[in-house]
Amino acid sequence: MKNLLALNWKMNKTPSEAQAWAQELAAGLTTGEAQLAVMAPAIMLPALATNLPAGVAFGGQDVSAHESGAYTGEISAAMLADVGARYAVVGHSERREYHGETDATVAAKARQAQAHGLTPIVCVGEGLDVREKGEHVPYTLAQLEGSLEGVGPDVVVAYEPVWAIGTGKTATADDAEELALAIREALTVRYGSDADRIQVLYGGSVKPDNIASICAKPNVNGALVGGASLKVADVIGMNDAL
Ligand code: PEP
Repeated sequence: MKNLLALNWKMNKTPSEAQAWAQELAAGLTTGEAQLAVMAPAIMLPALATNLPAGVAFGGQDVSAHESGAYTGEISAAMLADVGARYAVVGHSERREYHGETDATVAAKARQAQAHGLTPIVCVGEGLDVREKGEHVPYTLAQLEGSLEGVGPDVVVAYEPVWAIGTGKTATADDAEELALAIREALTVRYGSDADRIQVLYGGSVKPDNIASICAKPNVNGALVGGASLKVADVIGMNDAL
């Protein structure tokens, strides 16, 4: 299975900076083995649609659980699909923590994304307290089950231990593989052989110098990258490492 390098800019860059970034990537990217996708604030997606190199996908960092209507400030799956988005991240730990998103909300968002042909990237992962108690596997699997309620197999799952996001603390490749394997087994129970084509990503302080060892693990099929996604040179470095 191809590795997916999913780039999460979070709330960084302006639309003009996004355009310049995409043009710089187009000038410097050599074809690699990985699939690339840029998750940008929705206002930047039209600039990405016209400036990203061919074959590089893009998506939203969130999507509404609702179809349309009186939901001020939200972005619908139909809007993302209309500008050519292929993905929508759902359940990022920052959405769960700062916006009170529950597993049920995350599942509703993932279903809504799929209803418009988008592939949801469903994020799960434990906080430090859970990891210190040694409960990271059951905790993450319970979160996964809740977040996939009614969701079909056209999905990407990102395991992102919260203690490793933006902290510079990376899980070891073995930590990533432990959860990736557990997630894959749970996906197989849920989806049968359709689970074989689901990419399971690791996220948490991934950079050019650690991506290869993490993605070399048999059940890790790419990375969700925040901080190191902002500079084109780092993205090219990660793409070349895969
Ligand atoms: C993320 O935003 O999903 C993430 C993993 O961030 P970082 O790479 O900065 O840890």
